[in-house]
Amino acid sequence: MKMASLIRSLRWLLLFVCLLLVGLVARTFWFSTTAPAPSPGLAQSLTPWSSTQRMAALGRLQQAIRYRTISQDDTQLLDTTQFAGFRRFLAASYPLTHQQLQPRLLGGGTLLFTWPGRSVGPGTVLLAHQDVVPVEDSAQWAYPPFGGVVARDSIWGRGVTDNKANLIAQLEAIESLLQEGYSPTHPVYLVLGHDEEVGGWRGAGRAAAWLKSRQLPLARVLDEGGFITRRRVPGMQGRPVALVGTAEKGFLTVELVARAPGGHASMPAAETAPDLLLSALQQLRHHPFPAQLTEPMQQLAGHIGPHLPWPQRLAFANRWLMEPLILRGYAATPAGAAAVRTTLAPVRLQAGTKDNVVPSEARARINLRLLPGYSVATTLQQLRALLPDSSRVHLLVVGRPAEPTAMPARSASADYELIASSLPSRALVTPFLMVGQTDARHFTGLTRQVFRFGPMSDPAGFHARDEHLAVSSFYEGMRFYRHYLKNLPE
Ligand SMILES: [Zn+2]
Repeated sequence: MKMASLIRSLRWLLLFVCLLLVGLVARTFWFSTTAPAPSPGLAQSLTPWSSTQRMAALGRLQQAIRYRTISQDDTQLLDTTQFAGFRRFLAASYPLTHQQLQPRLLGGGTLLFTWPGRSVGPGTVLLAHQDVVPVEDSAQWAYPPFGGVVARDSIWGRGVTDNKANLIAQLEAIESLLQEGYSPTHPVYLVLGHDEEVGGWRGAGRAAAWLKSRQLPLARVLDEGGFITRRRVPGMQGRPVALVGTAEKGFLTVELVARAPGGHASMPAAETAPDLLLSALQQLRHHPFPAQLTEPMQQLAGHIGPHLPWPQRLAFANRWLMEPLILRGYAATPAGAAAVRTTLAPVRLQAGTKDNVVPSEARARINLRLLPGYSVATTLQQLRALLPDSSRVHLLVVGRPAEPTAMPARSASADYELIASSLPSRALVTPFLMVGQTDARHFTGLTRQVFRFGPMSDPAGFHARDEHLAVSSFYEGMRFYRHYLKNLPE
């Protein structure tokens, strides 16, 4: 009797498992993108530039790279002559833009251009930045970092991808539209920051404050961020994916300060300040923040999922069941983990000055990148809860933290469609979460529609050696911005 009921239960279980499997496979077959993918491509064939004009534009990008516009945390170290020279070069190269768009100098180096609209209405902010990060060892570069060399179908140099190709492409697009006598329906503000790499507070921060103080309404913001890639989205087998940042992570640096009596190194105490610091660090490292798919990453999964190879497609099609598996996959690589959790990186350690002295103080700086949904306050709370001995290990906030995006930009919108329709190729367009920081965050209080995307294909060497970009990609960028500006939603 018992045996019979066991068999009956097993049959039901087997039936359930079979149905589940059929369901999973069926969902995978019918898996299509969760939002209708907008169709890129149309704009690119309509180009106003002859090959001679394109070459001249490339020449201007080469010249732009030759200005060593390196921003510095310590403004005393700033070489203002390089920035002044760069601004003079821009004024000479883009005369109509400078005559008609009345540039305003903010914070000592940022340019804010205002392109009046044909009528009053919410404006568009286009952002790029003039400043670049320093070069560590120029002898290691294939071409001189400030040479602006064109070789192997690419343009090479510090700042070409971050962010001078965008900046020059935007100015080329605007200048060409002005030559035709075009003016936008509503105002367009072009903000060319000079301190993005050190936080953007003087530049983009002031530009946002300027717009806010004049109560100038904004419809949308477009800044650098995502780009087109054939290589960086695993499983896409060379298909280009355009990653449009609809949100960005927050930024927080904290310092742990451990204190304990020091003394002679020949008679160390059982627990010294460095010991306390190390165990505090380990405690934090052993308790990573939980992984989760935020809205932009869920949308990304919905868009790329149908194009992935089988086992991954099955997982992405059945996220309700397989999300833990997907998250584990993401968490396995540094880039993947950054997209799904608040990360924590020890970046500076400091203790001791002499071999025979036990230091009485040890310090560690930790940089955190906050996932949307967290805040600086809740993150600090969680860190403090993890530190066992707050009387001996203190936690301090360093510098200016930035909150993560509270509300991602809407991808089901004309603003997003316009980005997609201005793109060059058969790229698959998808929202994603920016793990780095951009100047765009200064504008989040002014409109929800803040997008982080630069129309460049596989830019290489961000903040690293041999920074370069394909010349064809720079030309595509010019066409992108021209189409974008000419087709802004009413
Ligand atoms: Zn940048």
